[in-house]
Amino acid sequence: MVRQSLAIFWLLISAAAAQPPAPIAYIVRIPAPQQHYVEVEARVPTAAQPRIELAMAVWTPYVIREYAKNLEAVAARTVDGRPLPVEKSRKNRWRIQTGGADPVVVSYRVYCHVMGVQDNWVDDEFALLNGAPTFLTLADGAVRPHEVEIVLPPAWKTVATAMSPAPQGLHRYRAPDYETLVDSPIVAGNPTLHNFNVDGKPHYLVDVGEDGVFDGQHAALDLARIVRQNAKMWGGLPYHQYLFLNILTGGGGGMEHANSTALMSDRWATRTRGNYLRWLELASHEFFHVWNVKRLRPAEFTPGEYETEPYTASLGIAEGFTSYYGPLMLRRAGLSTEEELLATLSHQIRELQTTPGRLVQSLSLSSFDTWIKFYRPDENTANTSISYYTKGAVAGFLLDARVRTATLGAKSLDDVMRLALARNPAPGGYSPAAFRAAASQVAGADLSAWFVRVFDSTAELDYQEALDWFHLRFAGDSAPQHAWLGADTKIEDGRLMLTRIPRGTPAYEAGLDTGDELVAFDDFRVRPADWERQLGYYQPGDRLALQVARRGRLMRVVVTLGREPNAAWTLEAAGPSDHRAAW
Ligand SMILES: [Zn+2]
Repeated sequence: MVRQSLAIFWLLISAAAAQPPAPIAYIVRIPAPQQHYVEVEARVPTAAQPRIELAMAVWTPYVIREYAKNLEAVAARTVDGRPLPVEKSRKNRWRIQTGGADPVVVSYRVYCHVMGVQDNWVDDEFALLNGAPTFLTLADGAVRPHEVEIVLPPAWKTVATAMSPAPQGLHRYRAPDYETLVDSPIVAGNPTLHNFNVDGKPHYLVDVGEDGVFDGQHAALDLARIVRQNAKMWGGLPYHQYLFLNILTGGGGGMEHANSTALMSDRWATRTRGNYLRWLELASHEFFHVWNVKRLRPAEFTPGEYETEPYTASLGIAEGFTSYYGPLMLRRAGLSTEEELLATLSHQIRELQTTPGRLVQSLSLSSFDTWIKFYRPDENTANTSISYYTKGAVAGFLLDARVRTATLGAKSLDDVMRLALARNPAPGGYSPAAFRAAASQVAGADLSAWFVRVFDSTAELDYQEALDWFHLRFAGDSAPQHAWLGADTKIEDGRLMLTRIPRGTPAYEAGLDTGDELVAFDDFRVRPADWERQLGYYQPGDRLALQVARRGRLMRVVVTLGREPNAAWTLEAAGPSDHRAAW
């Protein structure tokens, strides 16, 4: 029996080796881009099965996005045009009776009108198409090639994507598997291209909406310096080519991919130092993900699985450490000053230390619950949770200092990242225990208690070691102090509304509530656009009777004004330091 099964097994293996799975081949047409639709036609192999099931991705990092909601008119037919029955079997799945036909042709339309790096946008100027919201795939989970042909509107000339070109035809591409398809966003239109080489490898800055305003030439030179710093840290570049898809239409955010990134910003980003620094930090962050996330990957992520969300405790490393390194790589590349690096780090520390949720939710749990907390924020979020970007970045800073201190400067977090990657490359990935073991090995000391305190507990962080190593200090409360209420507000229909009341603030202690309308200070009317200036006439410690309207009823709430804690978390150099020079 064993022998027979083995024989069948070997027959199956050799059959599989002889015949790689047939590809799914898509044609994407954009006949009327101003209507925001793409039309997709897919030739889907069936292996002559009587029925097949097709699935649409449900999530991308790290939100349930329900991409199937933008699909319509899903239909199937044989190659010679005979219609085939289609029925929905789940929110994101379609079942097709093939009648034995192989392949079948599946067609559908996708509405593309979300300006986001993980969504689709189509208008008369350009298209940004991501794999997850565009392409139905076979739900059997088998690894097979996915081929894409883009048929451009007549006025469009260019397609930019990290996918490899297919052997023949214009704008035809081939991904070896669904994961690569999802991981390779496509820009189509007439973008401005700037190319540069690092280590003999081509890189492209693909600007949509440059319009003579965004300085793409200068930006490309600066990107080259970021790429070189990363190549130096990681020991080379792990791809054949890389694309920065830079959408300058006023949106925000970035999304990492193995061989490209999608960035959203506005076309004025190169015009002021502050805006440009933010754009460089975004690009630097996403580029660091080439390694941290795309190749040094939490073990819980399974390539090609986009229907059920994975749970990982490691986003503090994946996103947080990336948020630590993004600005640090700019400093190493000479693209920012030490003051600018310290300002970014201070901002991260300040955000952590003034978020009450840091005492409620651990870094590991923040990562695990990203699906229901971080990406589903409400008015109580700051009281109940902490961002793994923010606390993870600060944890990266503290771990870097821990390793440098323990090894007297011989090693750093760079060595930890390299060792973790060497030991746990994708697709296998690292567990929290594996990463902690790598850090302990580099430090030459058992860091498990450190990780439990910083990652798994809600204990306050201890900055002293990092301050000592880098010869830094917190500037203290020397800034002029204004009276502080501590609530966030917005103006709605000309009314001043309280939107968020962090725990521990004067507003919270006095019993103010989200949804309260602020009407008057003592007996004097508050003008919505002017309330902060009016508050400036009071001192910290003053008692103030606020008039508020709560669900339409007027009431008085007495508040004791406080002082804003922000200034206490500003890092400054305590003197010259070789350790900062070697950061
Ligand atoms: Zn990121």
